[in-house]
Amino acid sequence: MAAKHITVPAFADKHEGVRHFFGTRHEAGRPDRAARVVVSVTQVHGTDALVLDRPVEPGETFAGGWDALVTNQREVWLTVKTADCVPVLVHDPRQGAVAAIHAGWRGSVAGILPRTLAVMRERFGSDPGSLRIGIGPSAGPCCYEVDEPVLKKLREGVPDWALVVRETGPGTWLLDLRGLLLRQAQAMGADRTAIRTVNACTICHPTLFHSYRREGTARGAMMSGIMLTRRSKKR
Ligand SMILES: [Zn+2]
Repeated sequence: MAAKHITVPAFADKHEGVRHFFGTRHEAGRPDRAARVVVSVTQVHGTDALVLDRPVEPGETFAGGWDALVTNQREVWLTVKTADCVPVLVHDPRQGAVAAIHAGWRGSVAGILPRTLAVMRERFGSDPGSLRIGIGPSAGPCCYEVDEPVLKKLREGVPDWALVVRETGPGTWLLDLRGLLLRQAQAMGADRTAIRTVNACTICHPTLFHSYRREGTARGAMMSGIMLTRRSKKR
């Protein structure tokens, strides 16, 4: 039986009051059969975060589009769907807050990760230096070919863009999206040792992952999620 979920014990585990998973193509569904509250919203390749700072009812839906979800509420699964874009999960063990982020190249170049960390700081007092960050499976620097329109946006939006691309031919580059997110998190003050990256490429691992680049958008996406557990405690 193929792996349904990938978890990163060094990123977060239930003893720290949090659960998480990065889904594979073998489990695109719910994170947890017993979960009562699973929040999933329409993703629009933007940079806005939906902040849930009050209890969420089972089955409650949210009209609108967001690519980041943030909460300080316990037993609320925050989920994002990806297939080549990067799922980023964030845990603040000090203030008791979590975030789930859908970071494609558009959102990443526009700063969705630093913007979400700023929202966590403003709303929940999260110090970027005490956050734990998990960067999940996505199109890797081995396969993620981009063209001039993407590179133009990168040059405009990312000062050290040259460090996350490699030229492969006239007008084509390979983009290290996870590397870009890692740099952006560190630039916000995140501790490098508290950032864990799943170095698995969705494009070159067809048995494990869906990939829009390889399969087209119709085939499916992976769900990833994070939740503060009932026993979560401030430290
Ligand atoms: Zn690859």
